[in-house]
Amino acid sequence: MKYISCIHLEHGITFFSNSVQICCISSHPGGGNIIEINNYKGEIINWDELFKKRNVMREKIREGNIPEKCSGCYYLKESDWNTDNYIDEVLIGHFTHCNCNCIYCYTDKDKKFFNTNKTYNIYPVIKDMIEKGVLSKNATITFGGGEPTILDEFEELVYLLLDYDVYNIRIHSDGIKYSPAIEKGLKLGKITLITSVDSSSAKVYEKIKRVSCFDNVWKNLKKYAKTKNGLIRTKYVLMPGVNDNLHEIKNWMKMTYEAGIRNIAFDIEDNWFKANRNSIPQYIYVIFDFVFNSYQQYNLESCELYERASNLKIDRDNKIKPEK
Ligand code: SF4
Ligand code: SF4
Repeated sequence: MKYISCIHLEHGITFFSNSVQICCISSHPGGGNIIEINNYKGEIINWDELFKKRNVMREKIREGNIPEKCSGCYYLKESDWNTDNYIDEVLIGHFTHCNCNCIYCYTDKDKKFFNTNKTYNIYPVIKDMIEKGVLSKNATITFGGGEPTILDEFEELVYLLLDYDVYNIRIHSDGIKYSPAIEKGLKLGKITLITSVDSSSAKVYEKIKRVSCFDNVWKNLKKYAKTKNGLIRTKYVLMPGVNDNLHEIKNWMKMTYEAGIRNIAFDIEDNWFKANRNSIPQYIYVIFDFVFNSYQQYNLESCELYERASNLKIDRDNKIKPEK
């Protein structure tokens, strides 16, 4: 049966430091953040109970009642959704500590708090999902937080997922700490590594990241790239007024290719985008078009658009759509 829903509403789960939610998407008009368990501290989940509650919502969605918090979200689409109970879209984002210090990070509000905030160990929860058959082998597992490679259980957790044969593990890492588990996953072709470099010079990198790790990050990226099989993306988060010049962007694509990496990702800084969404300056479209239309000229194979960049594209496509 075809109806409008989204992969997260049907089969997603997101682990945050004190809650379990359906997804982490939030920059659309509805605002997202649908909480399933509040005050969560890593307890083993009662899946029968969770699916029972979620199915009440899924039933309403099948009748055409999309949750208000999803309104305007670009993830919504019509499809022949599988109505079984399983999870195949997981975000692991229960940690907030990081060895980097980006000016655009949500943790910048109170770096000391986020770097010392005690989190729970998610390994037993994921192991339980595997043992109970809740986690599909076709699952996409995304790590985003915080910096995952400095998480105590990170290496062991990635090996657990690789042993279970999950083949689509997406890891957002700043690239400062080299991870043997990521290297193994890349060799097996089961990991996509995304590293935001946001620059192509140490000067701009340090302005945004506020750590002196530019050379170290590129050294690690080159080492990861030698694994050949896995997919690596360098990402550029455009910060208007900080890294918004084409020279920096062209060199980023060039450096990516020279590091042996063939894929990029592009996004726009979240706070700026939310504040300026209805009055985007023309030069931002020029930069967007340049990246999206010319990455192949730099011998790169793909450019993934992240949430804000996707929304920018959708907003403009809608504006220029001919009236019916
Ligand atoms: S429609 Fe959007 S906000 Fe709603 S669950 Fe899906 S991704 Fe999240
Ligand atoms: S690398 Fe990510 S988690 Fe770390 S400070 Fe930057 S944006 Fe925040």
